[in-house]
Amino acid sequence: MIPLAKKATPAAIAVLRQATAIWPKRMKASDGLLPSKAHVNQNPNSDHNSGHAVDLTHDPIAGVNCSVIYSELQKDERVEYLIFKGKIWSKIKGEHIYTGPNKHNKHLHISIKKQCANDTSSWFPWMPEPSPINKVKAKVSKVKAKKKEPTSPKEN
Ligand SMILES: [Zn+2]
Repeated sequence: MIPLAKKATPAAIAVLRQATAIWPKRMKASDGLLPSKAHVNQNPNSDHNSGHAVDLTHDPIAGVNCSVIYSELQKDERVEYLIFKGKIWSKIKGEHIYTGPNKHNKHLHISIKKQCANDTSSWFPWMPEPSPINKVKAKVSKVKAKKKEPTSPKEN
C-alpha cells in the first residue's frame, strides 16, 4: 500500500487551478486530489494516495470538454495514464477498455509521473492564456451585450 500523502503534488494541484483560470464558471463536483478513506480502502494502489493523480470534472457546457482534454493530454510528457468514459490510455500500452467499477463518465482521471510532480507548466497549452485583464474585459462586454444586443455571436 502506498503511504498517504498529506498534500497533492504541485503538478496535480496545477491542473485544477489552471482549469479554473481558463474556465472560471466550470463545475467542480467531481474534482479530486487526495482520496477519502473509503477510496483508499477500495483502491490501495491509487495514484491519488501519493498525490500524483487528479480528477477534473467533465463540464462541456462551461468549456471543460474532457473528451478533448483526454486526447490533447496524450501529448503531455507528464502523463502516466488517463481514464475517461470507460477508456484508459497510457503511452506504453495505448488505449484500452477500462474495466474498473467507476467508468469515469463525470470526470477525467490524470495520473502524473513521479518525476514530474513539481512541473506546473501549462496543462492546457492549446487554450489561450487566461489573463486577469481579459477576464475583466469579458465580464464588461457580457454586461454590455446583455443590455444592447442579447444575441452577440461572440458570446456563443
Ligand atoms: Zn482519479
